[in-house]
Amino acid sequence: MDYRPSVRVMKTKFPQRANLTRNEPAMRKRWDEMKLYGEIQKNRKNADLFVLHDGPPYANGYVHMGTGLNKILKDVVVKYKTMRGFRAPYIPGWDCHGLPIEFKVTRETEGIENLSALEIRKLCLDYAMKFVDIQREQFMSLLCFGDWHKPYLTVHSSYEAAVIETFGKLVEAGAVYRQLKPIHWCMSCRTALAAAELEYQTLPSDSIYVRMEVDGHVKAAFGLPEDTPNVYALIWTTTPWTLPANTGIMVGEKVEYSCIKAKRADGETEYFILATDLVREVMAVGGVGEFEQVKIVTGDKLVRLTYKHPFVERTCKLVPSPYIKLDTGTGLVHTAPGHGSEDFYVGTSQGLELVSPLDDGGCFTDEFEMMKGVNVFDANPKINELLEKEGYMFQHGSMEHEYPCCWRCKEPVIFRATVQWFIKVDHPLPARPENPEGKSLRAQSLIAVQPEFTEWIPEHGRASMMTMLKERPDWCISRQRTWGVPIPALHCKKCGEATLNKELCDRVQQLFAEHGADEWYRRTASEIAPEGFACKCGSTEFEKEPDIFDVWFESGNSWNAVCRERDEIKDQFPVDLYLEGSDQYRGWFQTSLLPAVASTGSAPYKTVLTHGFIVDEDREKLSKTKKDKKEYGKARGKKLTAEEEKLKTLFANAEDCAKNFGADILRIWTTSVDYREDIRLSNEIMERRQQAYRKIRNTIRALLGNLNDFDPKKNRVEYKDMNGVDRWALMRMEEIRAEVTDAYEKYEFYRAFNVLNNFCIVDLSSFYIDVTRDRLYCDGEDWPGRRSAQTAYYEIAKTMVKLFAPILAYTCEEAWQYIPGAPDEAKSVHLADWPVENEKIKENEYIQHFFKGWRKFFEYVRPVIMISLEASRDKKIIASNLEGKVRFTFSKEGMQAYKMEEIVWFLERERNKLSEYIVCSEVLFSEVGSRSNDAPIERITHVSIEKSEYPKCARCWNLRPSVGKDEKYDDLCERCVKVMNELNG
Ligand SMILES: [Zn+2]
Ligand SMILES: [Zn+2]
Ligand SMILES: [Zn+2]
Repeated sequence: MDYRPSVRVMKTKFPQRANLTRNEPAMRKRWDEMKLYGEIQKNRKNADLFVLHDGPPYANGYVHMGTGLNKILKDVVVKYKTMRGFRAPYIPGWDCHGLPIEFKVTRETEGIENLSALEIRKLCLDYAMKFVDIQREQFMSLLCFGDWHKPYLTVHSSYEAAVIETFGKLVEAGAVYRQLKPIHWCMSCRTALAAAELEYQTLPSDSIYVRMEVDGHVKAAFGLPEDTPNVYALIWTTTPWTLPANTGIMVGEKVEYSCIKAKRADGETEYFILATDLVREVMAVGGVGEFEQVKIVTGDKLVRLTYKHPFVERTCKLVPSPYIKLDTGTGLVHTAPGHGSEDFYVGTSQGLELVSPLDDGGCFTDEFEMMKGVNVFDANPKINELLEKEGYMFQHGSMEHEYPCCWRCKEPVIFRATVQWFIKVDHPLPARPENPEGKSLRAQSLIAVQPEFTEWIPEHGRASMMTMLKERPDWCISRQRTWGVPIPALHCKKCGEATLNKELCDRVQQLFAEHGADEWYRRTASEIAPEGFACKCGSTEFEKEPDIFDVWFESGNSWNAVCRERDEIKDQFPVDLYLEGSDQYRGWFQTSLLPAVASTGSAPYKTVLTHGFIVDEDREKLSKTKKDKKEYGKARGKKLTAEEEKLKTLFANAEDCAKNFGADILRIWTTSVDYREDIRLSNEIMERRQQAYRKIRNTIRALLGNLNDFDPKKNRVEYKDMNGVDRWALMRMEEIRAEVTDAYEKYEFYRAFNVLNNFCIVDLSSFYIDVTRDRLYCDGEDWPGRRSAQTAYYEIAKTMVKLFAPILAYTCEEAWQYIPGAPDEAKSVHLADWPVENEKIKENEYIQHFFKGWRKFFEYVRPVIMISLEASRDKKIIASNLEGKVRFTFSKEGMQAYKMEEIVWFLERERNKLSEYIVCSEVLFSEVGSRSNDAPIERITHVSIEKSEYPKCARCWNLRPSVGKDEKYDDLCERCVKVMNELNG
């Protein structure tokens, strides 16, 4: 007889193949139609607020998967917090102003020089909006939820006004000033750059030691007659082009300097002055074999003495400096106050002349006639040549060092003195409750990042931030460009003085709020100036400030523009979370902190979470452009394979990535590793993620496949009435729920994912689903045992799908629709509540004991039996585990030594069920006399397998003693006979 129709098999519409790349876009459409984001917000209308404030990506170019990773992590937080019961609106933003866009537009537009500022700004705006649209689609393809069609943009009038509002407060506090100062300057972008806009690259450079002819007083200080010829101070530099601006040499007052005497190849005697500690090293570099010490003096004896510039008509000074280090160079430091920040501070305080003979393009002006029009980098070899010719070159070599480059054009930048606007970080702020003593911006910021106010994850972020805050110079906020928020200052036509005050800021804030920042360019200065506005000199004739704000000052004000103005998150200040890459300590975390502290006294965030970057197998950052490698970088030893190259190209575009792998795979890849470290990318890694996904999907499918005839309202079995293994499974699920929740709560998504993933593989796939199959397939449809297993499957499916939902946004939504009754409870899994603690399990002491027995059975007994079964199959003793008769013996004392009384208790209690848990014919167990007490588990237990003598049931294939006992169904076991009788009335 064919019993197959009477055996139930897995049946579900949840497909085995995910087809993510086709189904995810369809799901997004469905979500759009049901207005899911709005539904979620409505659903949580009265709930506590949790605000993750989005750091605005730059609206330029396609979204690299590195940025995609950031958005996915944010989305996992938002989805989790939402399910957890919070109202967690997500308002994405874009940084739309700034140099990179203006740079692009300038390059792509012909005749740009004939356009007005307003025309250029319009082109830039169009460009930014185009990329906002593109990037929005790309982020959405990663299944990130948010108010995508109502984002915040730094070009919104309200945003621009908010920037001026904060700035006005800084002006009022007296923390804004304008000064000639050396700043980082990009010659190709022709603008000042802030620290956050620099990228460091290893570049080759000159390394030259230069002779500087000293005056008679210096000679005298070393006991030499004042007319001694050939006495030189030795200086070292890697930037020969800064030598025309040399006006001094820094000396450590307590440093010992030697004058040494050496003989030149032509027989002439020379004297060199340098730090005593560096004599040996520098002479070796210069190839000077023999020399003798003339005298040692401390630096204080040399200050204010003079030397002659090697090729410019100039007498220069030796000046004291606290910055002398004796690890490189000569201990006598070449000083060009126009081209270095220490040089500037020391130089200005010591009265050195500030020379900066360069134009905006980095070419020499007529201040250095000899090389007028020559770019600084082209000037390097020319200056070296000049030094050689004149006999001032002591040694010329080369080296590689970390050199600052422009974030936009990747070209090396220079240090150059220009007039700029600054925020003074050491200026005392007005006293307020958050800052009662009126501490300076730097001091108060250092307080705001302390544990009482801000949590940093990982914790070492705090130290990074503090170091940067302690070391940072004043913030240069002006940029000589057009595409941004203009600095609202007016310059007097008569005396040239710049005027900037709170009154003017208020006026401009109001203008921008009404008409946007373009208004600055539409109006004349007098149309902007408030009533009765006048310069100190009395003049009322003004010109508008041409500079705009550093774009980082704009994005650093998002807390003011968005968190305090957008209705849905209004007054949530400080916000709960900032989540960005670890490069933002220098960038957005800091540029947000300073304006917030200046105008509110506190940090804009309660928690700051950072992640690493996507790196390839060589741990090289994937976002690096090819150009820097080719032109400046060292060629790397390893070549990428074609596949890796393809992957790397693919990762340059998040949407392509989603189309290629499916967003859920990317979401697994993002969350399955510790994102605090750099995240590696290779084909192998992506393949492993795909495999993991398939296993998870199969597990979910196996659960759903056995629920097609289960109605939780009618068929659910009470926990106390469930079969032991089903109760075990629910206990395990409860344990997993608690751990996964804890992991999400701590933002340790990799832990959440890995715990769930292991649960699927170890507990469910290779055990629980395996041992319950017989009951589900072969028991009578409505038998308690079958309903018991289904109850567990149902609970597990529902809990697991919810726990996975923040990560597997699509797959869990898909699965949710097939869980009986689930769609009635919530239309979308993302509208469902987070699973709560299962009190029934937690409170029952007996169950806890039972669970311990289970756990140890699982950990120690089952594996040794499974290994023996496998060996017996290999030896052809049995054809399948179902034929196996297992004899398991153990030493009770040995077990006790393992504190495994629970196992013994468990075995006895579950005696009749053991064959079910092993999926074999029969399990016999017995104690044997004591053996060793502390032997490994394999030695205190023994397993032997033989083939069962029982016949095989034709319906369920189990080998059971009852097979053949029934007259009507003589090839069935007792259970199957019962099922057949029921079926046939
Ligand atoms: Zn540049
Ligand atoms: Zn004036
Ligand atoms: Zn049977």
